[in-house]
Amino acid sequence: MNVKASLITLLLLLWSTGSAFGQGIQYVIHISVDGGGSSYIQSLINDNALPNFNRLVTGGAWTFNARDDYDYTVTLPNHVTQVTGRGVEGVDGHNWTDNGDPAAGQTIHSNKGSYVAGVFDVAHDNGLRTGMYASKTKFSLFDTSYKAVNGAIDLTGVDNGRGKLDSYVCDENTSTLTDSFITAMKSDPFNYVFVHYADPDAAGHDGGWGSDEYNTAMIAVDGYLGRIFDMVTSDAVFKGKTAIVLTADHGGKDYDHSDPTEPLDYTIPFGVWGPGVTAGADLYALNNTSRLDPGTDRPPYSDAVQPIRNGDAPDLELQLLVLPSVPGSTINVAQNLAVPEPSSVGLLVMGLASLLACRLFAGRQK
Ligand SMILES: [Zn+2]
Repeated sequence: MNVKASLITLLLLLWSTGSAFGQGIQYVIHISVDGGGSSYIQSLINDNALPNFNRLVTGGAWTFNARDDYDYTVTLPNHVTQVTGRGVEGVDGHNWTDNGDPAAGQTIHSNKGSYVAGVFDVAHDNGLRTGMYASKTKFSLFDTSYKAVNGAIDLTGVDNGRGKLDSYVCDENTSTLTDSFITAMKSDPFNYVFVHYADPDAAGHDGGWGSDEYNTAMIAVDGYLGRIFDMVTSDAVFKGKTAIVLTADHGGKDYDHSDPTEPLDYTIPFGVWGPGVTAGADLYALNNTSRLDPGTDRPPYSDAVQPIRNGDAPDLELQLLVLPSVPGSTINVAQNLAVPEPSSVGLLVMGLASLLACRLFAGRQK
């Protein structure tokens, strides 16, 4: 092989290692902390009360300044956003605005008037196992929307069926929910799983956001995170092959969170932890051309450069699994929210490529 051919081969290798940064990740665990306002989590971390949240901050790529949907700071619309990668309103939105238990048989699609694909569709249609562990009954919306009778026909490769969610579990006791989740992961792992913790939200409505009751609930969630970290870092099935993405649906102030113009309602965390993710990185610093730190503002979807949103999650998670974005998604549809550090293989290839480029250049000089 001549020098030029070697260079081309190496550049192709470089391209492939650089583009498939999710290579090696087989499992993605999405965690939504209901009512997890950034300022409350930050202050508890500063008091050393949340060691496992802190593990995500120091061992992953993180921001305390993500945003939820522009128009809605309530639970169910923001969870549909976390599954579909769409905002709530408008022709491109998922249009689910209700925050109560859905009526029997009602789906995201029947409400919208057309099928609304989610992260479960893409993962399942590509042969991956999917699950959801929820702690509020209203999450039956996802079970109903993505179960066999209502899910879309699988037109991707082998037909994996219309049921996009292999398992849906709802348990208002989040400790036993976590136990069931870990037991299920150990017996038949989910490649993509959505885990929802209602505790801080319930405590916020009852005792106020930032109250002792709220802080105790957040510390309980930190304990669940610890159990999940134990599984992911000690079990050979998951070790080095699992990413965790954590965000929230909204924060809160006093006893409420329904004001979309209130900074304490719309300022939420967003973090990614796992192989290839730059440890301790600020997500805005890693994405300084594609995302804009909004300060204390509430940018609309029409802004050319968007803040990081909870709706970035599904397309990022699919990218980590080396899968395309959710059909119809608008937030992070380009899958350009970067979380990686170049792998050692990538760095080696990059080094060799530059060496060869120098030799080629030197050869031409002769
Ligand atoms: Zn909520």
